[in-house]
Amino acid sequence: MTPFADDARSYSETRTRTSAAYVKFSPDYKVVLRILNPNAKRAWKHWIPEANGGKGMMATCPNITAQMDVCPIEKAAKATPKDDPKYEEKVSAARARKRFIVNVLDRTPYTVCPSCNTETPGKFCIACQANLKDCEFVPLNTVKILEGGPRLFAETLNSVDQLQKEEFGASITDYDITFITMGVGRERKINAIPQEVKFDEKKNIIPLPKDALLDKETGEPQKLFDLDLLAEPSSSEEIELMLKGADLATINLTRGIE
Ligand SMILES: [Zn+2]
Ligand SMILES: [Zn+2]
Repeated sequence: MTPFADDARSYSETRTRTSAAYVKFSPDYKVVLRILNPNAKRAWKHWIPEANGGKGMMATCPNITAQMDVCPIEKAAKATPKDDPKYEEKVSAARARKRFIVNVLDRTPYTVCPSCNTETPGKFCIACQANLKDCEFVPLNTVKILEGGPRLFAETLNSVDQLQKEEFGASITDYDITFITMGVGRERKINAIPQEVKFDEKKNIIPLPKDALLDKETGEPQKLFDLDLLAEPSSSEEIELMLKGADLATINLTRGIE
């Protein structure tokens, strides 16, 4: 039985999600997550640096089978003359990359900065860098999307899962995981440290406290994101728009979502 709302977030709510819906890793603070889906959803994605006014955005490749050839990014690379010495390099760089997506409950300890009122994790405020050592921290307990590549999921999280299964018979949704980030960009390394699996006197695993799962404002159970919807292929028209710098709101307008 799941303590979450039966229905997932609506199509338009999922389509209009913002970057705040995604877990962000930073070397400045540790992130604590409870994974909520026992299995991650796989998708093949492109990072489009031009999208979102140059901030970049992920697009799911519309070539949903190996035979399809509608993806504008891969088409453009393949249009490079075959005798161009960079042909192979360009085609390979344009390939979609495997990504994994799950719902998580972000349990990172947060506080409200006494200097600037920002809700922030860490030893120092993320907005004004004020020292937060005397502040009281509580878990954020907000449903977010964790998206990552094979290194985070197939390597790091799979080995955590295996270890915890062997040691405690616990599934990956049974305990919090603390993530510590070192470095940025290509040098970034994320370590995942499983937290204690809690058992009651009958040796049953204690689930998350019920109030952790409620929306702080409405008191209603929080809704999960529909993983199928998140992995929905982008159309070639949408990708063309992203290549020209479009943001998600503009792209949603072409689908009639406001
Ligand atoms: Zn593609
Ligand atoms: Zn501050």
